[in-house]
Amino acid sequence: MEGLNIVMKEACAKGIFTGTRIPNSNLTLSHLFYADDALFVGEWIEENINNLARILRCFHVSSGLKVNFNKSRVFGIGVEKQEITSLVEPLGCKPSDLPFTYLGVPVGANRWIGDSTLKTSFPEAYKLERYKHCKISDRLQNGDLIWDWKSAPRTLESVSETALLVSRISDFQTVQGNDKWVCTLASDGVFHVGRLRKKIDQWNLPTVETTLKWIHEIPLKVTCFMWRAKLERIPTACALLKRGIQITSPICSYCENAEEDTTHVLFRCSMAVRVWEWVLSWCNLPNIHFESVEEMLAFTTQWGSCEMKRRVLISICYGTTWFLWKARCDWVFKKLRTSPAKVVDSIKSTVFLWMKYRRKHCTFQWIDWCINPFI
Ligand SMILES: [Zn+2]
Repeated sequence: MEGLNIVMKEACAKGIFTGTRIPNSNLTLSHLFYADDALFVGEWIEENINNLARILRCFHVSSGLKVNFNKSRVFGIGVEKQEITSLVEPLGCKPSDLPFTYLGVPVGANRWIGDSTLKTSFPEAYKLERYKHCKISDRLQNGDLIWDWKSAPRTLESVSETALLVSRISDFQTVQGNDKWVCTLASDGVFHVGRLRKKIDQWNLPTVETTLKWIHEIPLKVTCFMWRAKLERIPTACALLKRGIQITSPICSYCENAEEDTTHVLFRCSMAVRVWEWVLSWCNLPNIHFESVEEMLAFTTQWGSCEMKRRVLISICYGTTWFLWKARCDWVFKKLRTSPAKVVDSIKSTVFLWMKYRRKHCTFQWIDWCINPFI
């Protein structure tokens, strides 16, 4: 998506795509991206739409990421629906109406009392309005509201809704002056990207229960592996099948006892059970049967009261999962069957080297380390 962002900025700079100027500022808005969502905003001119389609085609060819035009919608503001349809149909997009919801935020909704639109709050009264796209100013004359109903409210719902609407409006003070933008995310009404970002993150992203420690002593590739394992993104047999990759069986080829998923490879496989038992015993810890990466991370990050010792334990646990995965890959791809004892030896020697050469002022001795890593 960063590539598309650069392309769009370049297209705007060269006049290939014309964004929309934001009133009372020198800002021009052309696109908004969030995760896989993209919103393009521009002037309603045929050339703009055609050029945008060309940009997206070029982006597809160069990146392999294709925009699904079937799922895309086009909204024209102040444009007849027929014109929208005739212009966007060749693209394969569908025309749609305002307001719409983008990332949970209503866009184009004409809010005027409370937090929702007249259409949502007073649907029966809205049905009676003759011109559905009218502005508030169309119904105001010298501070008084002038209705343009198709017919007078008659049903019980429309009469009670209208009474409620009138009582709400009577409390509402209109003021003279130009319209201005007010951001409802903070009491001062000022818009900051950071505030919106915070709000969107709260809505859309899952909350992370445990934090992954990024420790200097541990090589980046190992921490990255841990991070992927935490997100269930390591290519186990089950994960590959889920992604539609044809493999012969989801069963763990090492123990042939269960399906091979992240938890199995790293904690439940006969190899993993034996390795953890020896590693924890070397650390002078009880034999804990971790059920998930989350559980293992939660244990290590809360363990003990000495920060230095905790860093050693975290390094050992990351190293253990790394070497368990390595042993699994050696078996799957090279048919090399490593014994649990050999895996434990690799963990002890490699984590020792991490501590010895990646930590400042390290006084660890190999002999002591082999007996207990926390001495
Ligand atoms: Zn297994």
